[in-house]
Amino acid sequence: AKKAGPGTVCFFEQADDRSSRERKALRADLAGAIARNELFLVFQPFLDLGTNRITGFEALLRWHHPSRGLVPPSEFIPVAEETGLIHEIGEWVIRRACATLADWPEDIRVAVNFSAAQFHNTAILQTIVQALAEARIAPHRLEIEITESMLLSKYGSAATVLNALLELGVTLALDDFGTGFSSLTYLRKLPFSRIKIDQSFIRDMLVQPDCAAIVKSVISLARDLRIGAVAEGVETADQLEYLRQISCDEVQGYLISRPVAADGVMALLETKKYR
Ligand code: C2E
Ligand code: CA
Ligand code: CA
Ligand code: CA
Repeated sequence: AKKAGPGTVCFFEQADDRSSRERKALRADLAGAIARNELFLVFQPFLDLGTNRITGFEALLRWHHPSRGLVPPSEFIPVAEETGLIHEIGEWVIRRACATLADWPEDIRVAVNFSAAQFHNTAILQTIVQALAEARIAPHRLEIEITESMLLSKYGSAATVLNALLELGVTLALDDFGTGFSSLTYLRKLPFSRIKIDQSFIRDMLVQPDCAAIVKSVISLARDLRIGAVAEGVETADQLEYLRQISCDEVQGYLISRPVAADGVMALLETKKYR
């Protein structure tokens, strides 16, 4: 792209201007999104391959923008992080997830995604304690998903919040495993309950033998560490069959279910196939 003519450069400048204008607009709109009730959660199940039962759901945030329609989290989470709105949004997600979990069977967990910035504000602790108490939920039913990249910077200050959460009994999952640079270091530092193998590995494992080797080793690593292995982004029956053969604990992906609204959760749980 750098070798292209001056016209191309001009194109990029325009695209940059447009995206910075868009970001400003999104930023302004996001500030009022909670008050206007535009945020909601959808839930995607984890399926245990040993028992063929649903063991829990990951809460995924959605923003229904009044004029843009559904804005994906990949677009608005970065804006929330930049502006600091992530704190308010993160607290909303925790409260909403716990309140929803209160209606589900006791053997079902909910997993919530956290941004790095959220660990640098201890107020989240109080929110979690309160949300668990109000919904009368055993802390181990709440799982926090963190990525290794988010712990890279300022691990020290994140550790305060992380350790308090662990003391409370909340569990931790290492998300997008394999995509960062220091996964193994964090496995040593923190008592994760689960490793989530990034969907890029699952996508390629049946076409690239090297990729299958990596997935197999991560599953055996998890077994040796006595923690769970979850495969993300399972889309085909062949992928599921292979993961079963290599004894992956849990799977998640469009093959089992797309993320569903809260009222779709009970319907999924009552599906004979999964109970
Ligand atoms: P993630 O935590 O890795 O979530 C998995 C993403 O993969 C979700 O996208 C999910 O809808 C999608 N997915 C699930 N199964 C499949 C599949 O079989 N095939 C494919 N191609 N994709 C699948 P989504 O909901 O758009 O979320 C994107 C990212 O946004 C999440 O990645 C997470 O990092 C972030 N995110 C979502 N909700 C929250 C939140 O409440 N707080 C924070 N901080 N981040 C969030
Ligand atoms: Ca996640
Ligand atoms: Ca993930
Ligand atoms: Ca991801």
